[in-house]
Order: sequence, then structure tokens, then C-alpha cells
Amino acid sequence: MDTKEIVIKDREHIEDSELLEAARILREGGLVAFPTETVYGLGGNALDEKASEKIYAAKGRPSDNPLIAHVSCLEEVGPLVSRVPEAGRKLMEAFWPGPLTLIFPKSSQVPYATTGGLETVAVRMPDDPVASRLIALAGVPVAAPSANTSGRPSPTTAGHVRDDLSGKIDMIIDGGPVGIGLESTIVDVSGPVPTVLRPGAITMEMLEDILGEVAIDPAILGPMAEGERPKAPGMKYKHYAPKAELTLVEPGTDWDAAETAREAAMIAKVRQLALEAAGEGRRVGIICTDESRACYEDVPGAMLQSIGSRRSQSSVAHNLYQVLREFDDLGAECIFSESFPKDHLGQAIMNRLSKAAGYHIIKA
Ligand code: AMP
Ligand code: MG
Repeated sequence: MDTKEIVIKDREHIEDSELLEAARILREGGLVAFPTETVYGLGGNALDEKASEKIYAAKGRPSDNPLIAHVSCLEEVGPLVSRVPEAGRKLMEAFWPGPLTLIFPKSSQVPYATTGGLETVAVRMPDDPVASRLIALAGVPVAAPSANTSGRPSPTTAGHVRDDLSGKIDMIIDGGPVGIGLESTIVDVSGPVPTVLRPGAITMEMLEDILGEVAIDPAILGPMAEGERPKAPGMKYKHYAPKAELTLVEPGTDWDAAETAREAAMIAKVRQLALEAAGEGRRVGIICTDESRACYEDVPGAMLQSIGSRRSQSSVAHNLYQVLREFDDLGAECIFSESFPKDHLGQAIMNRLSKAAGYHIIKA
């Protein structure tokens, strides 16, 4: 299949004429990749079983892993859900449009092909002007998982989408690099206690401000024990992963030591592991920060990628998937990464890094 590409000239002043063809493709059951504020999405009509099946096929995604239906306004939510619980209403008011997905009991209109057989449906209203206008013009809710091959890091540029899906989908809309760089926060409001199923840019702290107590699915905090199942089916897959073996180094648990001393020990451990691997002749990658880069420059042959400034969680989130993909392109065999505090956006950053590492985490 020929994949058409269009480039949005000015994201803040989009002409409807730029998006009409993409909207028509969606309405007619085709697939269009488009930018959102989180990562690039691969869109198809959420009410069209065939379109959902095409999404699974293009991504190579297991079909029990449900899709998120994207809407452009509150009126579009009603037909998708059988009920809007109080907690959901509060969160929609506080954070929509934005990087928050809510799980509701589904209406009969939403096909099981979209929900992976579940009685609930995931819904999000994106804030990105391209995404929002495209959905409005399509006139249908748009199912849109991340526009990557299943298992690869999520795409944060149109180039990443091209690398994975060119020739497999109808169109790619290039709206430039995304803003946040990590997938949306998912909160299940269909049960008695609102529960975070995936951390993201709407942080635990922000959710607690609105709802008071919020539960967290144990699958977020660490690897699942044998026989346990995460509530977001997608969280069970080894996700977000680079081709190389990734090892994450956490500061030690010497809580009496100053923060800077614990960080220094972490950096020393990353350096030591990288030196050992380089000594064995392996192609080594190091995920450093702007602040620590100089500490690794003498590791022979090591490829260094800064994930951003340690002082800016948003820059680390923004660069994370780009850095993992970069190491794939460079042919790294093993990657050693620093880790980050888990407060605020750090929870989502460490969730993605830990999963990318297959929970291979070493304490300094
Ligand atoms: P992605 O589309 O790549 O951002 O992944 C969507 C995530 O949302 C996956 O982890 C899914 O398992 C999760 N998800 C979608 N729908 C539901 C649902 N009805 N219940 C629980 N998790 C869901
Ligand atoms: Mg995904």
C-alpha cells in the first residue's frame, strides 16, 4: 500500500482543507497516523470493527489489547458510554482536553473489536490542535493506539511512524515533534474506587488534588507475579523496548546519604558497568543527562545519549523514546541508564524505563 504523507504548515492555524482527505479516509474505514500531545496515534473509526482489525494488523498488536477512542468534544462521549460516574465527570472537567484517558462502562455501539472484548471503553479528548480538528472533521470517534510497531518505543515524530508503518497505512500527518512524549495517564472510573492503570503527564498528585484518594494498579509499581493480571491489558506486554538489552541503575538505599552523594554513586555504577561491557567488546550505549554527560566521555567506544536535564522532568519525558530509538539505529547491544526520582512526572518516566529494561534494575 502507498502511504501518503502530508505536512502541517502551522499547527496553531490549521486550515480545514489540510485535513479533509485524512478525515475522509477515517470515515471510510482507512488508517491515518496523526500527532497528539502525548505520542503519535494510529487512527481508525472506533465504531468500525474492520477498522479496528486493520489497526491491530498494521501494528502487529495482540487483539486482546484494547484501543483508546478519541473524541473532540464532550458531546461525542455520550454515545460511547453507558454511564459517566461522578469521579469521571470531575476528572473530565479538570483535565480535558488533555493527556488523560478514562475507562467507562461501554455502550452497545462500541464494538468488542475496539475494546478487546471488554465491557468497558477507554476514552480521551486530546488537546493537540491537529488531533482535535481531525477527529471533529471525521465525525466519528477515532480509535488510536500509539503509531508504532507493537513492542517498539512509541513514536514522538512522524519519522518514527514512517520507520514502523510506511506501506501499511493510508496516511501519515506530519505535525512536527509531539509535546509530552509519553502516553496518556489512564484512570479506570468504572469501578467503586478510581484506579490509575498507567501513569502519565496527569500525575498522581494532580489526580489526588481533584479526587482525594486514588488507587494504583500494582502492575505499575513492578513486574507482575506469575498468574497476576494488570487491569490495562496492554501493560502486561514488554512494551516500549529498544532492541538492545537495557539495564537501569537506581541510587542505593543509603537514605542517610545526601541526594547528590546517592546520585554520584549511581553515576559511578553506570560508568563501571559500561566500562566492563566495553572491555568485553560489546557495543555500549549510555543514557546520561546534560549534567552527567562529562562523567562518561572516557568510556572507550561508548555511545552517549543525553535524555535531557535532570532538573527538568518534562525534558526527560520528551526525549525518552527518541533516545531509545536512536540506540536502535546506532546498533547498541547493551544500554546502561541512570534513573530518576519517582515523584510527579517521574512516576511515568520510571514506569516506561523500567518496562523498557524488562525490570532489569540494579542498585548502586
Ligand atoms: P495505547 O493505545 O498504545 O496507548 O495503549 C492503550 C492502553 O490502554 C493499553 O495499555 C490498554 O490495555 C489500555 N486500555 C484500553 N482500553 C482499556 C479498557 N477498557 N480497560 C483497561 N485498559 C484499557
Ligand atoms: Mg502503545
